[in-house]
Amino acid sequence: MKKVSNAYEELKPFLERAQAFSTARILFEWDNETLAPRAAEPNTTKVVGTLSGEYFSVITDEKVKELVRRCRQEKESLGEVESAVVRELAEEIERLECIPPEEYREFAELTAGSTGIWARAKENNDFESFAPVLKKIVEYSRKFASYRAKEGQRLYDVMLSDYEKGFDIETLDRFFGTLKERLVPFLKKLTESGVEIDDSFLTGDYKEEDQEAVGRFFAEYVGFDFDRGVMAVSAHPFTTNLHNKDVRITTSYNNRVDDSLFSVIHESGHGIYEMGIPDELTQTLVGQGASMGMHESQSRFFENIIGRNEAFWIPVYDRLQKQFPGELGDVSAEQFVKAINKVQPSLIRTQADELTYSLHVMIRYEIEKMLIEEGLKVEKLPEIWADKYEEYLGVRPRNVSEGVLQDIHWSQGSFGYFPSYALGSAFGAQLYYFMKGKMDFEGLLKKGDIKTIREFLRENIHRYGKLETSRQILKRVTGEDFDPGYYTDYLTEKYGKLYGIKAE
Ligand code: ZN
Repeated sequence: MKKVSNAYEELKPFLERAQAFSTARILFEWDNETLAPRAAEPNTTKVVGTLSGEYFSVITDEKVKELVRRCRQEKESLGEVESAVVRELAEEIERLECIPPEEYREFAELTAGSTGIWARAKENNDFESFAPVLKKIVEYSRKFASYRAKEGQRLYDVMLSDYEKGFDIETLDRFFGTLKERLVPFLKKLTESGVEIDDSFLTGDYKEEDQEAVGRFFAEYVGFDFDRGVMAVSAHPFTTNLHNKDVRITTSYNNRVDDSLFSVIHESGHGIYEMGIPDELTQTLVGQGASMGMHESQSRFFENIIGRNEAFWIPVYDRLQKQFPGELGDVSAEQFVKAINKVQPSLIRTQADELTYSLHVMIRYEIEKMLIEEGLKVEKLPEIWADKYEEYLGVRPRNVSEGVLQDIHWSQGSFGYFPSYALGSAFGAQLYYFMKGKMDFEGLLKKGDIKTIREFLRENIHRYGKLETSRQILKRVTGEDFDPGYYTDYLTEKYGKLYGIKAE
């Protein structure tokens, strides 16, 4: 019989307390973005600050640190889940403790004001007012990374591994290098082909209540369980999870029907991942998706590989027509599928199509690397940004608002975050090719059988929570290490067919 670790038993009540504080904080954050009255924010911010402080003091309690040390000595008596929880806890302690409290407070004050300064700069098209703040944020981020860098590790590597363990500059250079080499010339060929796709009918008098009705239908159709989840409206769509029986998605509505429709399917993908976490993991430190990138792999899998697939629409396109007889009654399923896959190189990442999306991310990766590792001056950002857009996407921003100031991330000090967006799509494509070898993927979609596909993902990915890294998951499931070639194959095959062109 296996000996029970006494230290782990003693650790449990601390972990439960920490979990309760973080759940409460997350619930307030959700509420702030959805239902809370506008005036509530300053008062709620105080409550959230207190909850974060309590979480911090539980996790960094001397007793907790001692118990972590003892758990490591009693390694043999820990099960797989317990070992993973102790590993995550040790990492969390290191993250929270490595920064001197004084510097941490200064940085928190800086970033508390910086998103406001960024938002005004963006509104006024004025990079100069944001540049000095951004410079300070870069300095702090480099300093904080240096506290955690292992010998010989580069600072940007430390930042990257915060979002995606197992990925560093070397791996990402190879990834984005493949994208650059294969997608940039392919896109050029596509835009020069002269093929025009009409998507004008996607914009129109699409009533909000009708959009909500189809949103709920498609969320449920792909497998979002409304007994364990809810859907609300917020300025930008997102997913929040409290545990595997309380998962919340949001969407927003405008006069383009595909915006809310695909954001609902995307967030449903995030939600289905969290609903697939087993009871034994939920409400622990390993009871969430494996990583940012693995999460994006699931949401983008549902949104693009399933949702923008021609076969997906065969059994359900008439459901959409029934809701919008005036707008889509005369539009064939074939026309609709072409329209939702239209490629249009543009300036704004969040509005990008499936093919060009990762090129937006590649630009940010290249610039971050220059900022953190190569001493690029903040003042040079607007020009470098515009040059890269022109080179890779063939479009040049007319001003900084639609250029370097469009994303909130840098104003919050989130360097190393962007690559996960593109990695997720690439993980999804690798999984897709593997699954095609195991099942008649498009045949299942044509029959309206999403369940078989979803069950595969749950069984092979979701139920592992954070027990493995994204790279370990890919290896276990597909038998291969991460290979970006699948992603470029997927994109050039799909869009080559749609636009009638061949990849090099
Ligand atoms: Zn997402």
